[in-house]
Amino acid sequence: MTHPPSWESSPSPGASAGSPRRAAAPQPAVGVLGIQGAVSEHIQLLRKSGSEAFAIRRAEQLHALGGLVLPGGESTAIGLLGSRHGFFEIISRRAKEGMPVWGTCAGMVLLARELEGQQPLLPLLSIRVRRNAYGRQRDSFEAGLEIPVLGEALYPGVFIRAPVVTSCGQEVQVLARWAGRAVAVQEGRLLATSFHPELTEDLRLHRYFLQLVSDAASGKALPSQPGQTGKGSVPRPAGRFPAF
Ligand code: GLN
Repeated sequence: MTHPPSWESSPSPGASAGSPRRAAAPQPAVGVLGIQGAVSEHIQLLRKSGSEAFAIRRAEQLHALGGLVLPGGESTAIGLLGSRHGFFEIISRRAKEGMPVWGTCAGMVLLARELEGQQPLLPLLSIRVRRNAYGRQRDSFEAGLEIPVLGEALYPGVFIRAPVVTSCGQEVQVLARWAGRAVAVQEGRLLATSFHPELTEDLRLHRYFLQLVSDAASGKALPSQPGQTGKGSVPRPAGRFPAF
């Protein structure tokens, strides 16, 4: 562990009143894997959510991070370059040491232990996924998702050539479902979403991830809560969605 013991986060809103006082501590920096995809969008939302955030362009930059986001984009390209240039080896090691990692869309594909098809994966999270399960770019849509860990208000789920989770290990919490399929999952400090939170104005998922990052930095034990799932609203027709 590289952090000194005093490097603790401020208590989360849910912390019990009787817990010992913690010193306010800086939020560790979060990286966004900068090989390809929606990198700057994630950086903007992480910064708006109060974190220092920057693009990871060289594998060595992974050593100093408190957390990492694998953005949406093209998982085959990110996988090929990430495995070839030493990123994946370090990401795997750091994630196994407890660094929080959040994969969005293509990032979810890369985190999956199993894929219907073959391409380089990390693979860290006990899910099986099918790529492009909701169709092509023109089939993109936005749907209001129930994500109970974020509160009652529906979360705007932007699905662009999104993967679907076809099965989950027992240790995986399903945070949200859409049309009966898991679209947001968590296993320990690994988080994966089929959709694109970085293309919305809603900061709740970025804040949720940053809480995992500060908990990891302060050595807080992982909660063992059963997965809660929501069904979500009727999808809205597709607007204009970026292509990565
Ligand atoms: N279909 C892409 C892939 O599997 C993911 C698309 C996205 O990230 N929007 O790589």
